[in-house]
Amino acid sequence: MPSKIIINHSENCRERSGKIRYIIIHCSKFTPEKQIEILNEYKLSTHYIISQNGEITENCPPERVAYHSGESKWLQSEEKSLNEYSIGIELEAHNLGQIAEDYSRKQLMALNRLLKKLSKEYHIRPENILGHSDIAPTRKIDPGCGFPWYKFYKKGYGIWPNMKQKHPSDNEEELLRIIGYDTENLVAARYAFCRHFFAEEVFYNADLQELLDNPYPKDFAPHRQAEYMLRLRATAQAYQIARQKKYWYMAE
Ligand SMILES: [Zn+2]
Repeated sequence: MPSKIIINHSENCRERSGKIRYIIIHCSKFTPEKQIEILNEYKLSTHYIISQNGEITENCPPERVAYHSGESKWLQSEEKSLNEYSIGIELEAHNLGQIAEDYSRKQLMALNRLLKKLSKEYHIRPENILGHSDIAPTRKIDPGCGFPWYKFYKKGYGIWPNMKQKHPSDNEEELLRIIGYDTENLVAARYAFCRHFFAEEVFYNADLQELLDNPYPKDFAPHRQAEYMLRLRATAQAYQIARQKKYWYMAE
Protein backbone atom coordinates (compact mmCIF):
# COMPACT_ATOMS: atom_id res chain seq x y z
CA MET A 1 0.00 0.00 0.00
CA PRO A 2 1.12 3.58 -0.59
CA SER A 3 3.34 4.78 2.16
CA LYS A 4 0.84 7.47 2.93
CA ILE A 5 -2.44 8.82 1.70
CA ILE A 6 -3.09 12.50 2.22
CA ILE A 7 -6.53 13.02 3.67
CA ASN A 8 -8.42 16.04 2.40
CA HIS A 9 -12.07 15.13 2.82
CA SER A 10 -14.82 16.93 1.00
CA GLU A 11 -18.19 17.90 2.41
CA ASN A 12 -19.75 16.92 -0.87
CA CYS A 13 -20.31 13.24 -0.34
CA ARG A 14 -23.16 11.24 1.07
CA GLU A 15 -24.01 7.93 2.62
CA ARG A 16 -23.86 4.97 0.26
CA SER A 17 -26.69 2.49 -0.04
CA GLY A 18 -25.57 0.64 -3.19
CA LYS A 19 -22.81 -1.96 -3.38
CA ILE A 20 -19.51 -0.74 -4.81
CA ARG A 21 -19.01 -2.54 -8.11
CA TYR A 22 -17.10 -0.14 -10.34
CA ILE A 23 -13.92 1.89 -10.32
CA ILE A 24 -14.00 4.86 -12.69
CA ILE A 25 -10.73 6.37 -13.92
CA HIS A 26 -10.69 10.10 -14.65
CA CYS A 27 -8.09 12.71 -15.45
CA SER A 28 -7.76 16.43 -15.04
CA LYS A 29 -5.09 18.88 -16.18
CA PHE A 30 -4.92 20.49 -12.74
CA THR A 31 -2.78 19.72 -9.70
CA PRO A 32 -4.60 17.91 -6.86
CA GLU A 33 -4.83 21.16 -4.86
CA LYS A 34 -6.41 23.00 -7.75
CA GLN A 35 -8.70 20.04 -8.54
CA ILE A 36 -10.04 20.07 -4.98
CA GLU A 37 -10.63 23.79 -5.23
CA ILE A 38 -12.62 23.35 -8.42
CA LEU A 39 -14.54 20.31 -7.12
CA ASN A 40 -15.54 22.27 -4.03
CA GLU A 41 -16.60 25.21 -6.11
CA TYR A 42 -19.03 23.03 -8.09
CA LYS A 43 -20.05 20.95 -5.07
CA LEU A 44 -18.49 17.87 -6.65
CA SER A 45 -16.03 15.36 -5.27
CA THR A 46 -14.02 12.24 -6.04
CA HIS A 47 -12.55 9.50 -3.89
CA TYR A 48 -8.89 9.72 -4.83
CA ILE A 49 -6.61 12.05 -6.73
CA ILE A 50 -3.14 10.93 -7.85
CA SER A 51 -0.59 13.63 -8.66
CA GLN A 52 2.14 13.42 -11.27
CA ASN A 53 4.64 12.52 -8.57
CA GLY A 54 2.51 9.64 -7.29
CA GLU A 55 1.00 11.27 -4.23
CA ILE A 56 -2.46 10.01 -3.38
CA THR A 57 -5.07 12.31 -1.83
CA GLU A 58 -8.30 10.91 -0.46
CA ASN A 59 -11.15 13.34 -1.12
CA CYS A 60 -13.96 11.03 0.05
CA PRO A 61 -13.78 7.74 1.90
CA PRO A 62 -14.87 4.94 -0.48
CA GLU A 63 -17.69 3.92 1.86
CA ARG A 64 -19.39 7.19 0.97
CA VAL A 65 -20.76 8.26 -2.43
CA ALA A 66 -18.72 10.94 -4.21
CA TYR A 67 -20.00 13.08 -7.07
CA HIS A 68 -17.49 12.20 -9.75
CA SER A 69 -19.25 10.59 -12.71
CA GLY A 70 -22.35 12.74 -13.26
CA GLU A 71 -24.92 11.47 -15.70
CA SER A 72 -23.58 8.09 -16.77
CA LYS A 73 -24.62 4.65 -17.90
CA TRP A 74 -23.14 1.19 -18.33
CA LEU A 75 -24.74 -2.07 -19.40
CA GLN A 76 -28.13 -0.45 -19.91
CA SER A 77 -28.25 0.53 -16.24
CA GLU A 78 -31.53 2.15 -15.36
CA GLU A 79 -30.25 4.79 -13.00
CA LYS A 80 -29.04 8.18 -14.11
CA SER A 81 -25.56 7.86 -12.65
CA LEU A 82 -23.01 5.26 -11.59
CA ASN A 83 -21.96 7.27 -8.53
CA GLU A 84 -23.92 5.08 -6.13
CA TYR A 85 -21.95 1.99 -7.21
CA SER A 86 -18.52 3.34 -7.93
CA ILE A 87 -15.24 4.68 -6.67
CA GLY A 88 -13.71 7.56 -8.63
CA ILE A 89 -9.99 8.06 -9.15
CA GLU A 90 -8.67 11.28 -10.72
CA LEU A 91 -5.24 11.44 -12.29
CA GLU A 92 -3.32 14.64 -12.87
CA ALA A 93 -2.60 14.71 -16.63
CA HIS A 94 -1.62 18.01 -18.20
CA ASN A 95 -2.66 17.04 -21.70
CA LEU A 96 -5.86 15.36 -20.56
CA GLY A 97 -4.43 11.91 -21.20
CA GLN A 98 -4.20 12.32 -24.94
CA ILE A 99 -0.67 10.93 -25.09
CA ALA A 100 1.04 8.20 -23.08
CA GLU A 101 3.56 10.72 -21.66
CA ASP A 102 0.74 12.43 -19.81
CA TYR A 103 0.94 9.72 -17.19
CA SER A 104 4.11 9.45 -15.14
CA ARG A 105 5.67 6.20 -14.01
CA LYS A 106 5.36 7.16 -10.35
CA GLN A 107 1.73 8.03 -10.84
CA LEU A 108 0.89 4.75 -12.56
CA MET A 109 2.70 2.82 -9.85
CA ALA A 110 0.60 4.59 -7.23
CA LEU A 111 -2.55 3.86 -9.22
CA ASN A 112 -1.58 0.21 -9.41
CA ARG A 113 -1.19 0.03 -5.65
CA LEU A 114 -4.50 1.78 -5.12
CA LEU A 115 -6.34 -0.51 -7.56
CA LYS A 116 -4.85 -3.50 -5.82
CA LYS A 117 -6.05 -2.34 -2.43
CA LEU A 118 -9.54 -1.29 -3.57
CA SER A 119 -10.15 -4.35 -5.76
CA LYS A 120 -9.30 -6.60 -2.87
CA GLU A 121 -11.27 -4.67 -0.30
CA TYR A 122 -14.43 -4.19 -2.37
CA HIS A 123 -14.20 -7.29 -4.59
CA ILE A 124 -14.12 -5.28 -7.81
CA ARG A 125 -14.28 -7.44 -10.92
CA PRO A 126 -11.62 -6.58 -13.56
CA GLU A 127 -14.26 -5.80 -16.21
CA ASN A 128 -15.77 -3.19 -13.92
CA ILE A 129 -12.73 -0.93 -14.05
CA LEU A 130 -13.68 1.67 -16.64
CA GLY A 131 -12.91 5.15 -17.90
CA HIS A 132 -15.21 8.12 -17.47
CA SER A 133 -15.58 8.37 -21.28
CA ASP A 134 -16.83 4.77 -21.35
CA ILE A 135 -19.80 5.56 -19.13
CA ALA A 136 -20.48 9.08 -20.46
CA PRO A 137 -19.47 8.95 -24.15
CA THR A 138 -21.32 12.09 -25.25
CA ARG A 139 -19.86 14.25 -22.48
CA LYS A 140 -16.46 13.03 -21.38
CA ILE A 141 -12.99 12.47 -22.79
CA ASP A 142 -11.08 11.16 -19.77
CA PRO A 143 -8.78 9.39 -19.05
CA GLY A 144 -7.90 9.70 -22.77
CA CYS A 145 -6.35 7.31 -25.26
CA GLY A 146 -2.92 7.80 -23.65
CA PHE A 147 -4.02 5.91 -20.57
CA PRO A 148 -2.24 2.52 -20.55
CA TRP A 149 -5.28 0.21 -20.40
CA TYR A 150 -3.34 -2.73 -21.78
CA LYS A 151 -0.65 -2.46 -19.08
CA PHE A 152 -3.30 -2.44 -16.38
CA TYR A 153 -5.12 -5.33 -18.00
CA LYS A 154 -1.91 -7.37 -17.71
CA LYS A 155 -1.88 -6.60 -14.00
CA GLY A 156 -5.47 -7.80 -13.65
CA TYR A 157 -7.42 -4.54 -13.94
CA GLY A 158 -9.78 -3.86 -16.84
CA ILE A 159 -10.32 -5.86 -20.01
CA TRP A 160 -8.33 -6.17 -23.22
CA PRO A 161 -9.36 -8.11 -26.32
CA ASN A 162 -7.76 -11.34 -27.35
CA MET A 163 -7.82 -11.03 -31.14
CA LYS A 164 -8.09 -14.79 -31.51
CA GLN A 165 -11.50 -14.86 -29.84
CA LYS A 166 -14.22 -12.88 -31.57
CA HIS A 167 -17.90 -12.48 -30.94
CA PRO A 168 -19.97 -13.99 -33.79
CA SER A 169 -22.12 -10.87 -34.25
CA ASP A 170 -21.12 -8.26 -36.79
CA ASN A 171 -23.71 -5.73 -35.73
CA GLU A 172 -21.78 -2.73 -34.46
CA GLU A 173 -24.47 -1.41 -32.16
CA GLU A 174 -25.15 -4.80 -30.61
CA LEU A 175 -21.43 -5.33 -29.98
CA LEU A 176 -21.04 -1.94 -28.31
CA ARG A 177 -24.02 -2.72 -26.10
CA ILE A 178 -22.61 -6.13 -25.16
CA ILE A 179 -19.46 -4.40 -23.95
CA GLY A 180 -21.58 -1.98 -21.93
CA TYR A 181 -21.71 1.25 -23.93
CA ASP A 182 -24.84 3.35 -24.06
CA THR A 183 -25.51 3.47 -27.82
CA GLU A 184 -28.21 6.08 -27.79
CA ASN A 185 -25.65 8.24 -29.57
CA LEU A 186 -23.89 5.65 -31.72
CA VAL A 187 -21.12 7.96 -32.97
CA ALA A 188 -20.20 8.95 -29.41
CA ALA A 189 -20.17 5.31 -28.28
CA ARG A 190 -18.00 4.37 -31.28
CA TYR A 191 -15.50 7.08 -30.47
CA ALA A 192 -15.44 6.20 -26.77
CA PHE A 193 -14.68 2.61 -27.75
CA CYS A 194 -11.75 3.81 -29.87
CA ARG A 195 -10.48 5.98 -27.02
CA HIS A 196 -10.22 2.88 -24.88
CA PHE A 197 -9.36 0.12 -27.38
CA PHE A 198 -8.22 1.67 -30.67
CA ALA A 199 -6.12 4.74 -29.86
CA GLU A 200 -4.80 5.00 -33.45
CA GLU A 201 -8.23 6.27 -34.51
CA VAL A 202 -8.37 9.06 -31.94
CA PHE A 203 -7.51 12.64 -32.90
CA TYR A 204 -5.09 14.77 -30.92
CA ASN A 205 -6.38 18.21 -29.99
CA ALA A 206 -3.94 20.82 -28.67
CA ASP A 207 -6.83 23.09 -27.72
CA LEU A 208 -7.91 21.46 -24.47
CA GLN A 209 -10.96 23.63 -24.01
CA GLU A 210 -12.20 22.77 -27.45
CA LEU A 211 -11.56 19.11 -26.72
CA LEU A 212 -13.59 19.29 -23.51
CA ASP A 213 -16.40 21.10 -25.32
CA ASN A 214 -16.43 18.60 -28.19
CA PRO A 215 -15.78 15.14 -26.74
CA TYR A 216 -16.18 13.36 -30.09
CA PRO A 217 -16.14 14.31 -33.78
CA LYS A 218 -19.80 14.45 -34.79
CA ASP A 219 -19.22 12.59 -38.06
CA PHE A 220 -16.65 10.11 -36.77
CA ALA A 221 -16.13 6.88 -38.68
CA PRO A 222 -12.99 4.78 -38.18
CA HIS A 223 -10.40 4.96 -40.96
CA ARG A 224 -9.59 1.31 -40.57
CA GLN A 225 -13.17 0.07 -40.58
CA ALA A 226 -12.34 -3.64 -40.97
CA GLU A 227 -9.78 -3.54 -38.15
CA TYR A 228 -12.26 -1.59 -36.01
CA MET A 229 -14.92 -4.30 -36.44
CA LEU A 230 -12.42 -7.04 -35.59
CA ARG A 231 -11.38 -5.23 -32.42
CA LEU A 232 -14.97 -4.53 -31.51
CA ARG A 233 -15.92 -8.19 -31.90
CA ALA A 234 -12.89 -9.36 -29.91
CA THR A 235 -13.61 -6.84 -27.15
CA ALA A 236 -17.28 -7.85 -26.87
CA GLN A 237 -16.19 -11.47 -26.60
CA ALA A 238 -13.58 -10.60 -23.94
CA TYR A 239 -16.18 -8.80 -21.80
CA GLN A 240 -18.62 -11.66 -22.17
CA ILE A 241 -16.02 -14.20 -21.12
CA ALA A 242 -14.89 -12.00 -18.21
CA ARG A 243 -18.45 -11.65 -16.88
CA GLN A 244 -18.89 -15.41 -16.74
CA LYS A 245 -15.79 -15.88 -14.63
CA LYS A 246 -16.27 -16.85 -11.03
CA TYR A 247 -13.87 -15.75 -8.32
CA TRP A 248 -13.57 -17.66 -5.11
CA TYR A 249 -13.41 -14.48 -3.05
CA MET A 250 -16.59 -13.05 -4.51
CA ALA A 251 -20.05 -14.00 -3.38
CA GLU A 252 -21.75 -13.11 -6.66
ZN1 LIG B 1 -14.00 12.45 -15.37
